[in-house]
This record gives sequence, structure tokens and C-alpha cells, in this order.
Amino acid sequence: MRKKCNCGEMMTMKLRTVIYSGKVEIDNVPIFSCQSCSRSEVIPEVKPDLTGLIAGLGSEPGKQTFLFNECNEWADLLVEAKVNKVRPETQDVEELITHRINALLDMYLLAQSLNDETWLADLKKRLGQLSRRQLHT
Ligand SMILES: [Zn+2]
Repeated sequence: MRKKCNCGEMMTMKLRTVIYSGKVEIDNVPIFSCQSCSRSEVIPEVKPDLTGLIAGLGSEPGKQTFLFNECNEWADLLVEAKVNKVRPETQDVEELITHRINALLDMYLLAQSLNDETWLADLKKRLGQLSRRQLHT
């Protein structure tokens, strides 16, 4: 889970609060940041969800706070990694991902057997977010 910065240094993954429009606080957004030149960027896997969230706010959003990890599996996984003191750039995070995917698939089977359409749709979305991966470059 690392990326090379334009300056040649390796970027590390962090969770950051993004402020939109000076009013909307979005907590726990996973970003890559470079310690050497201070460049930072939102990780590509979460961009569609972040832009979707922002687009949904409209042109004049009121003061509000979101927990990005409540609407994105990547962010949630990284929050979990942080709680468990797993550093995102280590192999351990790969294990967390595998774990999470397996747990979601188990729930998927359960939701299917219960014919719970709402739950199925939610799980499908979450699995889709995790399969959106381009990290091994
Ligand atoms: Zn840099």
C-alpha cells in the first residue's frame, strides 16, 4: 500500500480530515502523503466515493461532519488497521483486506439465504469498493 511520489520518495498512507467548502468536515479520508515534499493525494480507490459524497452535498452545503469510513470500505479498513496498530505499508494490511473480503462474502451468503435485498445491495457495494484496487504498481 505505497506509492512513489513525483519527487522520488515513497509516499505513506494516512487518514486525514478533508474540509469541503469551508463547512463540511469529512473525517477518515485515506490519503497518500510524502514526508519529503509534503505532497498529498486521495488514494485512487476511494476517489469515486469521495467525489460522489461531495457531489451529493449540492452547491451550498451547510455545516456538517461525515465519517468517510461509514460509507467506504477502504477507509473503514484503514481505521481498523489504525485501531489495531497495523501500519498500512506492511503485509499485515493485506491480511486485513483478505479477512474483510471473506467476512463480507460470508454475510453475502447469509443475506442471500434470507432474501434480504437491501442487505445484499449494501454488501455488493462494499465488495465492489474493495475490489477496486490498483495498489500493486
Ligand atoms: Zn514527494
